[in-house]
Amino acid sequence: MEKLQNFINGEYCAPINGAYIDNYEPATGNVYSLIPNSDEKDVALAVESAEKAFPIWSAMSNEERSEILIKLSDGIKNRMDEFVAAESRDNGKPLSLAAHVDIPRAISNFHFFATAITHFASESHYMVGEGVNYTLRKPIGIVGCISPWNLPLYLFSWKIAPALAAGNCVIAKPSEITPYTAYLLGKVAQEAGMPNGVLNILHGLGSSVGDAIVKHPKIKAISFTGGTKTGEYIAKTAAPMFKKLSLELGGKNPNIIFADCDFDEMLKTTLRSSFANQGQICLCGSRIFVERPLYEKFKTAFVEKVAKTTVSNPTDPKAILGAVVSKPHMEKVLSYVQLAKEEGGTILTGGEQVHLEVPYNNGYYLRPTVIEGLAYDCRTNQEEIFGPVVTITPFDTEEEVLIMANSTQYGLAATLWTTDLKRAHRMADKIDAGIVWVNAWLVRDLRTPFGGMKASGVGREGGEEALRFFTEPKNVYISY
Ligand code: NAP
Repeated sequence: MEKLQNFINGEYCAPINGAYIDNYEPATGNVYSLIPNSDEKDVALAVESAEKAFPIWSAMSNEERSEILIKLSDGIKNRMDEFVAAESRDNGKPLSLAAHVDIPRAISNFHFFATAITHFASESHYMVGEGVNYTLRKPIGIVGCISPWNLPLYLFSWKIAPALAAGNCVIAKPSEITPYTAYLLGKVAQEAGMPNGVLNILHGLGSSVGDAIVKHPKIKAISFTGGTKTGEYIAKTAAPMFKKLSLELGGKNPNIIFADCDFDEMLKTTLRSSFANQGQICLCGSRIFVERPLYEKFKTAFVEKVAKTTVSNPTDPKAILGAVVSKPHMEKVLSYVQLAKEEGGTILTGGEQVHLEVPYNNGYYLRPTVIEGLAYDCRTNQEEIFGPVVTITPFDTEEEVLIMANSTQYGLAATLWTTDLKRAHRMADKIDAGIVWVNAWLVRDLRTPFGGMKASGVGREGGEEALRFFTEPKNVYISY
């Protein structure tokens, strides 16, 4: 059985305690590798190496760091097939999704921040006749980056690329459920000429190694993406230590469809925004609100297409949905389907596990599920399910749908479908969400602020927001 290793001080190494955890392949339900069950001793070792590396890395020019990060981006591109296969196997997502979304986006994360840092400017404020202020933006030092399992390398790189570009040394932890592509990244960093100790990748449980990263006094900032409950715990732990925090948390996003929309385009995109990556994207629109005149037409067409969606093993080119990430997660999603029934919902399609042929007969497959007839404020419509389950609800007015859309504790993303320009602006203005897509979904421009409001997080990633997060501003005033 393959044993993954930590990447500390530019070298692969076993966890100090010698302990490992099983790594499951969601497509088959089998254990296929072992990952280090690291703890605070490994974190201490990584911090030691990062401390030694920081003076070297932070003293390099932006152009020198940029060059290494571009090589890192190219290194992933050169191993595209290996990364794609690893991501799909580790997570259960269709190979095609890893090939078209996850890995290309991870490559562009490194490339984008490698070049962004060479354009990063800071402010200067002139005081007429008196003097001038200029603001230095210097790297923070050692930072912690903790990421989830749904878009493993994509979200991992979304944090570590700006952190490294800005001159910080990084202690990073991927989800213990999907460690493989982060493991491969160490090799690429070595080949790119990244100085030892600049990027350290530790594997293991959130409650041990993740917690040790958050608590280590020399780690000055934490960039975290994951569930709202974990975010709350991290905020409580890190706040008294005055660490800088960026928290990208859960969502329960509305997809609001007006009767005047481009129906075909809306339907095609709504299938994706509902079920891409088995519904395990924080930006998926799991609450679909449809203006009443369009409701029946939408319901018929949508349910027909969803019922025909192919659920298959991730290597099957016909697979639209692969496996969900783990057995406990599959059980959690199914428990929400049960809850929806208890709350009076009608399952229009799906709602059950899919049993594939050997060797995939113990994999974690779920039929995409559409539910109607639920109150907008019931638990099914308020809590994050994070699986291939959507609810559909009719509405009559903009005011009514805004109340329903804004009723959850979350405020991550929203999608709007309408051809009425004024309405699009009006609605976008009033929706509680950090990201609003009008007649589109999951469009990405790396320069824009990414993140949510309310219980969906604190701070923004992307573009200058990320570079500002990973630097400490210092204002200098010079008197004339
Ligand atoms: P999670 O359980 O909160 O875990 C996220 C990461 O935090 C994992 O690496 C996890 O490690 C680690 N962790 C857990 N407990 C920790 C602790 N006490 N201290 C430090 N680290 C700890 O979330 P998940 O189940 O992996 O991911 C799904 C969630 O992420 C959903 O809520 C989804 O909406 C959210 N998400 C948000 C965004 C966004 O941009 N807003 C993007 C993607 C996903 P282990 O897994 O190894 O335990």
